[in-house]
Amino acid sequence: MRPCAVWRGGRPPTSWWSGRRFGLPADVKAKGPAPNINPARAKTGQNQPGADFPHPTNGTKALTPSWCGGKRDAVLFDEARADWPLPGIILKLFTCPRCGNAVHFENTQCVGCGSPLGYVPERFEVVTLEQRDGSFVSLSKGGEAYALCGNAASVACNWLVPINAGETFCEACRYNRMIPPLSDETIVRNWAKLEVAKRHLFYSLMRWHLPRSPRGVDRQEGLAFDFLVDERKEDGTTKPVMTGHESGLITINVAEADDAERERRRTAMGEPYRTLIGHFRHEIGHYYWDRLVRDGGKLDGFRTLFGDEREDYGEALKRHHNNGPRPGWTQAFISAYATAHPWEDFAETWAHYIHIVDGLETAEAFGIRTGLGATQSGSVKDEGSRFEPYSAASARELVDSWVPLTIAVNSINRSMGQPDLYPFVISKPVVDKLQFIHSLIHAPLKT
Ligand SMILES: [Zn+2]
Ligand SMILES: [Zn+2]
Ligand SMILES: [Zn+2]
Repeated sequence: MRPCAVWRGGRPPTSWWSGRRFGLPADVKAKGPAPNINPARAKTGQNQPGADFPHPTNGTKALTPSWCGGKRDAVLFDEARADWPLPGIILKLFTCPRCGNAVHFENTQCVGCGSPLGYVPERFEVVTLEQRDGSFVSLSKGGEAYALCGNAASVACNWLVPINAGETFCEACRYNRMIPPLSDETIVRNWAKLEVAKRHLFYSLMRWHLPRSPRGVDRQEGLAFDFLVDERKEDGTTKPVMTGHESGLITINVAEADDAERERRRTAMGEPYRTLIGHFRHEIGHYYWDRLVRDGGKLDGFRTLFGDEREDYGEALKRHHNNGPRPGWTQAFISAYATAHPWEDFAETWAHYIHIVDGLETAEAFGIRTGLGATQSGSVKDEGSRFEPYSAASARELVDSWVPLTIAVNSINRSMGQPDLYPFVISKPVVDKLQFIHSLIHAPLKT
């Protein structure tokens, strides 16, 4: 287990390493069954109904850098990207098809006309719905019939499933393995916030057609999510859940969705930024390191830029949490936590790549462009041209557009007394790392 998001940057409380406060295992390399990945999890959650996942009986294998799953996913990956890249489209500005009112990605109903809304993930489109004969029919031109996601009632998931797809859950929810107990309203509300963040993640993955294997297909390293709550023991102590990634399984502590708790953790760790969407974008970075770097034959290029990941992971984290980031780290890393270990540097930089692309796309959809840096790369030719960040030519092009935008928005935030939207500095070595990730995302995979 890579504990990742549990502690990012800054010095943790002295009890951290002993695990008394957050219950981290002494050996974060998780040799043998990890505490969160065994049937005991059922005490804090429940299996996602209908999810086709095996439930491990003896934990998971140790995370060893030399272990390699080979190319068994390559065919699946290439099929997933058969029609990639998508034709140029600018999204994120959704409108109600019936009344034209602007609606958000998460909306289930139009506040203008009251129409029920759903999101068609395959088409990146919000549609108005009408209930007919037990299903929902899109009032858009196609008139397709859909079912609501199986998590619509519990967490207001607004993603739709084609009625004949044979699926209970939407493209994002079907990767869930464990969900928290539905008997506690507060926990369910927090889980719902996490699902919104996860759908934003899947939006990006789908825009790039990034390959992913469900746990039901790849039972060793397939992608799955566990949403768990801290376990209260009979003796009154708490067994905390560790947010992190291991071999495709992403575990999220539902407490992270509690605003006060997340802010407490953020300040305790001296972080400038801690969000739910940031957690998902970071943890999926570990998943894609396994898939695209380790299994994709990119280790040499990775080590040149990020360092040698064979460095003892547990020792590296321990050193980071005891000593803090190395002096001058801002010259080569996107965050303090990125300095902890090459794996964490990759996951942090990966998350920022998605932050930048998705943030730029949203800005572009609303006609917000500072243009200060865009001409440096020559990619934005004139005011009338559209900039499509998901299809950008290079990381440099993205950064040239992103930096002036963030300076502007940070300034607006400061004028409102709010924290900076993007409290980070992107140095030249970070641009090189972003370019490595850009190449991974945009290059067709080799079988
Ligand atoms: Zn991590
Ligand atoms: Zn409407
Ligand atoms: Zn769903």
